Amino acid sequence: MIEVKGLSKRYGKVVALDGVTFSASDGEIVGLLGPNGAGKSTAMNIITGYLSADSGTVTVDGASISDEPEKVKRLVGYLPEIPPLYPDMKVSEYLSFVCDLKKCSVPKAAHLDEIAKVTKITGVWDRLIANLSKGYRQRVGIASALVGDPKVLIFDEPTVGLDPGQIIETRSLLRRLGRRHTVILSTHILSEVEAVCDRVVIIDRGRIIANEKTGDISSAVGGGRRYAVKVCGQTGEILNVLRAVDGVTSVEVTGERDLDAYVYMVDSERGRDVRRAIFSACAERRLPIIGMESAGVSLEEVFMKLTEK
Ligand code: ADP
Repeated sequence: MIEVKGLSKRYGKVVALDGVTFSASDGEIVGLLGPNGAGKSTAMNIITGYLSADSGTVTVDGASISDEPEKVKRLVGYLPEIPPLYPDMKVSEYLSFVCDLKKCSVPKAAHLDEIAKVTKITGVWDRLIANLSKGYRQRVGIASALVGDPKVLIFDEPTVGLDPGQIIETRSLLRRLGRRHTVILSTHILSEVEAVCDRVVIIDRGRIIANEKTGDISSAVGGGRRYAVKVCGQTGEILNVLRAVDGVTSVEVTGERDLDAYVYMVDSERGRDVRRAIFSACAERRLPIIGMESAGVSLEEVFMKLTEK
């Protein structure tokens, strides 16, 4: 259980957080969602003890980060937006080093072996980090957060900069980790929250503007122009085709799969119905659409509606 109460933080004149309160229960995956500059990283850095707050408290299993920082840090695994990896080390050396830094008491080889299996990095175990793809580096970053088997995992924008295949892999890994850990992840992508999180906490300009079960967020602000489109074919091509459709503002592929089709979340401009145009664009490229349904509102609309309130 992690409890964040009344967190405030200023950088000079910039108010980064203004009375932020939310919690995550044991085994819950909570998504901290907000646009760039909303205060997500600041909140995560405070929760993990990298930054101190001007006021407010963070407790993990009843231990306060300001009173018992060592204890809390042992309970929390953190993946910063840019994981601090050493490119000159092999994956095995790096994780062994992290194990030593965290002063893990469990038998090292067996522990690292298990983490390597969970994060699927056994194939690159003896490779230099410098030679890994961005997707594998991210997995090594997640592996280092898992060292010491912390109860709580905090991930800052875990899928930024990954390609669609890597995004799908990472999201399914996050979901698996959520079965054994309490997870807080930050993102600026609504479909990521929908794909991974049990609950969503929306932050805007340092304030919490919504805190809802994931399924309730769209209905909380009323229906709108967002579609879940199921298309067969190669992900990269489909993303390009959908993104080029007039009136479409963003397209994300979710991890949801149906035979050789994935579900794409398509957001459109306010007041535009892009369904016919999506059909024509996909038909022209001979990409079969095997499903299309309204999927609530876009992040943009959620913000508009919530800030209106
Ligand atoms: P997010 O992670 O949601 O993008 P951040 O927590 O990084 O948001 O930033 C929140 C606000 O605080 C932004 O206005 C940002 O410009 C500002 N900010 C973040 N870090 C610093 C810093 N070290 N010095 C000054 N301003 C900062």
